[in-house]
Amino acid sequence: HRAENRKSAALECVTADGARIEVFANLGRAADAAGAVAEGAEGCGLLRTEFLFLERQSAPTEDEQAAQYQEVADALGGRPLVIRTLDVGGDKPLPYLPLPKEENPVLGLRGVRVGLRQPELLRSQIRAILRVTPAGACRIMVPMIASPEELRTVRTMIDEERAALHRAEPIAVGAMIEVPAAALTADRISAVADFLSVGTNDLTQYALAMDRGNPHVAAQLDALHPGVLRLIRLAVTGAGRFGRPVAVCGGSASDPMAAPLLLGLGVTELSATPAVIADLKAFIRTLRLDDCRAVAEAALEKDSADEVRRLVTERWPEL
Ligand code: PEP
Ligand code: MG
Repeated sequence: HRAENRKSAALECVTADGARIEVFANLGRAADAAGAVAEGAEGCGLLRTEFLFLERQSAPTEDEQAAQYQEVADALGGRPLVIRTLDVGGDKPLPYLPLPKEENPVLGLRGVRVGLRQPELLRSQIRAILRVTPAGACRIMVPMIASPEELRTVRTMIDEERAALHRAEPIAVGAMIEVPAAALTADRISAVADFLSVGTNDLTQYALAMDRGNPHVAAQLDALHPGVLRLIRLAVTGAGRFGRPVAVCGGSASDPMAAPLLLGLGVTELSATPAVIADLKAFIRTLRLDDCRAVAEAALEKDSADEVRRLVTERWPEL
């Protein structure tokens, strides 16, 4: 069906019972944006900005960053562009970023923690994002948020830089939900965030206490573990208190078996790897939300990711 699915890829994605689900692309460099749109992406739900910072001797200038973000925004032709602020840490050292050597870098200085320690680096990225035109094109997403206070600090920086640039238009600011504590306190974080986006790669790693880079536990590292699904449900419930939408931008957004579960849990946006978008949209069009909810509820009562996967394939044997 692949050729057929590509023909309908540009159309909006609506479930069989009429629920609008946005399907966005994850991007790791500007050059992939146009191709993602051709695959049916309705925007970019995660621009991993590390590509601008890695493998070089000095930080990219604000102008250099602004040009790259503008290139992505132009290729998206007015579709939403969610730019994630820099997510590096001890495991991906940058020669120009003085970070201590750490015993457990995955539990150390990474994501927003780096930005808060090196505020000039974060501020230059914020300014570059604020300069992209049209002003409504971009949203800012902050990785590895563990508490509302961190996001409040970043918001204050954004407000200050916006004032300095005399930019009148506000910009949406979202939190990535990758730390289990953030999923558990999603209501508190939603008081500060305009949207949430679940990073299932890290959320699964931290929930299961399994290093995502460790081949010895790779086979068990499955985002469909009921414990991870329960955390996602808590994130959705918490966000609902403030009417905030919840996206998923981790690997499970690209996993067709996860789609009915995530929609059933109340996720309304998936940001996937471009190559799967056409098929994902076609599959979502066949789904009914009440079915998805029933299967998601049943999945929460299972004992393992394997059991959850069996449950999904019983209901959708085509997967
Ligand atoms: C995630 O953790 O799921 C995520 C989207 O971020 P990254 O894979 O870049 O850590
Ligand atoms: Mg992550």
